[in-house]
Amino acid sequence: MAFNAIGGSAIRDLLKVTEQPGVLSLAGGLPATEFIPTSAIAAATQLVMTDDAALQYTASRGAATCLRAVAAFIGGSPDEVLITHGSQQALSMLAHAFVDPGDVVIVDDPVYVGARQAFQAARARIVALPITATGTNTAHLAELLESGLRPRIVHTVSNFHNPSGVTADPDTRQALADLAQQYGFWIIDDDPYGCLRFSADDGRRRIAPDPIPGDRAIRLGSASKILAPALRVGWLQGPTGVIDVVERLKQSADLCGSTFSQLVVAQLLSDTQWLDEHIRTLCVEYGARAAELVKSLHRHLGDGVELTVPSGGMFCWARLPGIDSSALLDAALIEGVAFVPGAAFAVDADFSDHLRLSFATLPPDLLGDAIRRLAIALDRTH
Ligand code: PMP
Repeated sequence: MAFNAIGGSAIRDLLKVTEQPGVLSLAGGLPATEFIPTSAIAAATQLVMTDDAALQYTASRGAATCLRAVAAFIGGSPDEVLITHGSQQALSMLAHAFVDPGDVVIVDDPVYVGARQAFQAARARIVALPITATGTNTAHLAELLESGLRPRIVHTVSNFHNPSGVTADPDTRQALADLAQQYGFWIIDDDPYGCLRFSADDGRRRIAPDPIPGDRAIRLGSASKILAPALRVGWLQGPTGVIDVVERLKQSADLCGSTFSQLVVAQLLSDTQWLDEHIRTLCVEYGARAAELVKSLHRHLGDGVELTVPSGGMFCWARLPGIDSSALLDAALIEGVAFVPGAAFAVDADFSDHLRLSFATLPPDLLGDAIRRLAIALDRTH
């Protein structure tokens, strides 16, 4: 196929620039390096290395210990789980499993860029629905379906959407499940951020909406944002028929994932006491960073900025009415701050005055600095 049919990722290109010394980056969706649990990973590694199987090939679906640990973590049976090389590989394999060239795939607008790339690689016809404050626009979706559109897949990020930050409410989840049942499409519920929920109702339990119900939903998860991206362990949970198809694709792609990484992840996910505490720390720290970012935006940009206060995940989706955020990025890089312009996530809609700001990577004091630099860049572009 024509390689240029796959759009590049503006974000991955931008990451090259932001690696330069002195640049404060709000651009990438990178977890804070200081919250990657290095000591726990080192201890798990030592333990895993006492297992002869750790450096061998494993089953294409994933090492049994990891399948069990992931199933216990997400609540489900190991038979419904397949381990992938990060959840990005699940997106790529599902696109190849279900999409023939020209088939329709529906995404939210703005879209998670990695999903769009995966569907473009399978030569899908991408149709976008402007996202709402309660998730995928199911009313608009129902109209499209009634008028005859027959998607193979509807993709969404149901918790703390990347980039818009929106979480799907229970009605949206149910409506999606009902439409999928009626019209026979697959829902890909891409959920790497669901654990990063800042609010706690009683100081202990974080109330999350139930996942998208029904047997047309395929749920993706990842160790990247809660443990470490470099482990490259993600997972897919879905009906066994889907697992079987993806398993065959995985055989052809890479035979199997890294046994070693999977056993390390299994070890960490199984230590539930440690894991609960670790995730609680992430939520507290990221919640504080999100609050600092919002405070700094209000302080330095005043009424010029519109935003929704993030309640989880890693991103703040902000709008500077009347400002071309791509042009602002050029000025911002000169001031030593980076973000991703909204246009990078746009399918049909115009997000040229939007910015995706990641609050996860920088500590609170540098977040304040970054927004101060952004305000200077904004002044310069006026
Ligand atoms: N889905 C979403 C919505 C993401 O934001 C990301 C990472 N940015 C991924 C999938 C892929 O992450 P990984 O492959 O590291 O699990």
